[in-house]
Amino acid sequence: MKDFRYIDGAAILTLNKEACIGCGMCVTVCPHRIFALQDKKAKIVDLNACMECGACATNCPTEAIFVNPDNGCGCASMIINSWISKVRGKQVNVCSC
Ligand code: SF4
Ligand code: SF4
Repeated sequence: MKDFRYIDGAAILTLNKEACIGCGMCVTVCPHRIFALQDKKAKIVDLNACMECGACATNCPTEAIFVNPDNGCGCASMIINSWISKVRGKQVNVCSC
């Protein structure tokens, strides 16, 4: 999924390092490899690739991750239409939100 990204600067994702226990669940469940573990704590390594699916926040045992007030609105339309645009070689409306 590394070639299919959300809109730069749009992701509302925050990480409370104090609350993180370093279990690695966010690293495992994130389809876009947003997180990495460093010194037994999660860190955000690629914020703009986040599509706000909410999987990390849902699976974090300590509620250290905040995605957005709806717990992840996500924009599957944006990702899928970006993929279609790439395959067709012409721009398709990328987001219907
Ligand atoms: S899932 Fe939560 S507690 Fe576990 S590493 Fe990620 S942020 Fe830390
Ligand atoms: S909201 Fe989804 S894409 Fe964004 S960091 Fe969490 S699991 Fe990854």
